Amino acid sequence: MNLILFGPPGAGKGTQAQFLVKQYAVPQISTGDMLRAAVKAETSLGLQAKAIMQRGGLVSDEIVLGMVEERLAQPDCSGGFVLDGFPRTIPQADMLHAVLSRMGRSIEHVLSLEVEPEELVHRLSGRRSCPACGRGYHVEYEPPQQAGMCDQCHVALVQRDDDREETVRNRLSVYEEQTHPLKAYYLAKGMLRQIPGIGSIAEIQQRISSVLAG
Ligand code: AMP
Repeated sequence: MNLILFGPPGAGKGTQAQFLVKQYAVPQISTGDMLRAAVKAETSLGLQAKAIMQRGGLVSDEIVLGMVEERLAQPDCSGGFVLDGFPRTIPQADMLHAVLSRMGRSIEHVLSLEVEPEELVHRLSGRRSCPACGRGYHVEYEPPQQAGMCDQCHVALVQRDDDREETVRNRLSVYEEQTHPLKAYYLAKGMLRQIPGIGSIAEIQQRISSVLAG
């Protein structure tokens, strides 16, 4: 099962990717997670990406594609994968399909999670996570038992630098300009499956399962 999870920042791609990982036993390939790990490890790639990510811009197509190409060649991707946050530009999509076709593979579905912009601002700016175990929370939709603390680790929750409201607005306008055109691109290829991204996590999982079963 070779999938792309598509949608604006805050649409729930990471959450639904985790469901797909469990349900279909395929790895999640999140370029955002890979870049954050590179920033944390202070690799040369991470140092190049850091300032761009902090202001909500896009890292260069070449850097991101290099990371994805390397990841796709790893053995755990042989039975399928879920791409989360990639491709984000039309050149990335063209390059992805060229790389896959050299490997004799292709994408089966592009699952597009559809959520209105105002809801996205609300979701992203309320998002928190545990720096120890990585568990995600939302101040309103999924609050911890004790405000600001992880239920499991009892350490203070943190907010991603780029989830602050001003950066969120920039990420959304970058999405509109550079990523949203991919919808028409995949629609024209007959690969786009539009999924309403509003409702409970379980409801959205159900919608995804029915699309994949159909
Ligand atoms: P995400 O976790 O997917 O929201 O990604 C966080 C940040 O990483 C984005 O705002 C970009 O700066 C960068 N990033 C992630 N994926 C890509 C990509 N496919 N192309 C360019 N930049 C990316």
